[in-house]
Amino acid sequence: MKVRLYEIFTSLEGEGTLCGTKTLFVRLAGCPFTCFYCDTKEALPLESGQEYDLQDACKLIDKHLQGNTYKVNFTGGEPLTQHEATAALAKHIQSKNIPTYLESSCFDAKKFAHVLPYIDYVKIELKTPDSKFVDAGHYSTLLENALHCLGLAIASKKPTYIKMVVSSKTELKQFEDLVAKIFKIAKPKDLKGFIIQPTHGTSEPNLQQLFSLYDAVYPHYGDVRVVPQLHKLMGAP
Ligand code: SF4
Repeated sequence: MKVRLYEIFTSLEGEGTLCGTKTLFVRLAGCPFTCFYCDTKEALPLESGQEYDLQDACKLIDKHLQGNTYKVNFTGGEPLTQHEATAALAKHIQSKNIPTYLESSCFDAKKFAHVLPYIDYVKIELKTPDSKFVDAGHYSTLLENALHCLGLAIASKKPTYIKMVVSSKTELKQFEDLVAKIFKIAKPKDLKGFIIQPTHGTSEPNLQQLFSLYDAVYPHYGDVRVVPQLHKLMGAP
């Protein structure tokens, strides 16, 4: 099996519920989507990565693993575009008793189901149409897949949290509708967190908008948090 990797590096986790943990990031190349706020555009083409045999990729990851690493994140790009390789690499990490973590837009429930057994922490990212993730004609299919992935993650009983990136373009009604769909699937006890993440450096939402978005989630999930990407504030990659 081959895998195309864009980069491997250790940093401090800057997003979500495990923020601040020393983390090895394995960034797989390739993502077919077009979120306007994407901060890894250089890793979107599959060809941007270097191709490795799976065994060589495992060795490379082992070489980069530092002591006291809390978890290994599989990120991208979109790791599910190379789902078989992501599953195999995650299995390799689990064999070392290091927790694995998936950062994905969850665009394909079948691919997600293939990777899930090898993932210890699951972040489900849900996107509103204003993200420009995909054209309007494909949005509902992708959303259906992401919601299906949420159901699978909950059923697996693995720690699962939700992330929604918001910007000044986020329409409150669309956000509220999506939140309602999420909580038709998830009960509060099923989730380890719900993070509203403001965009950084592009179309940043103002405080009033963030309050409105927070207020849309709070009645469903009282532990909702608005948290920016903290690694950017720390100057970490
Ligand atoms: S899904 Fe993720 S990697 Fe792909 S364009 Fe959107 S933000 Fe970027």
